Amino acid sequence: MSITAAREKFGVFLVRKGLRATSQRLAIFDAAFTLEEHFTADQLLDRARKLDDSVSRATIYRTLPIMTASALLREVDIGSGEKFYRPNRDGATTQVAQVVCVDCEKIFEISAPFMEWYSSTVSSKLGLTPASQRLQVSANCDVFRQSGACPRRG
Ligand SMILES: [Zn+2]
Repeated sequence: MSITAAREKFGVFLVRKGLRATSQRLAIFDAAFTLEEHFTADQLLDRARKLDDSVSRATIYRTLPIMTASALLREVDIGSGEKFYRPNRDGATTQVAQVVCVDCEKIFEISAPFMEWYSSTVSSKLGLTPASQRLQVSANCDVFRQSGACPRRG
């Protein structure tokens, strides 16, 4: 999905929710979609301010849930206290699992379509319907295992 197509989708989503496509919201959206790695709210604020210096931290925190609800942004919680975000560039609806380096907290993502199947199988055995599922794997970088230090740290 190109950023133009994604921005258009976001615009449609805003209208449907009765929200205005303000220049700040669009700057935040553009900033999020041009960040390559997983990012935090603060990193997004830095990037968005380069596009529109009227973007405030409050606007970031109000816009993130809107973008997540639009499914154009994914929220990733690795249990470190701070949430990470990543644009859903391919518009994928399949499940994604995270593999997190325990030393530098770099997040790798892998497609995990079996997760949905697994949760519905397990739930139906209990007579339940799954609402959501997630899988996270903690791992060490190869270099970390050999030298005790992660090259990405710092
Ligand atoms: Zn690492």
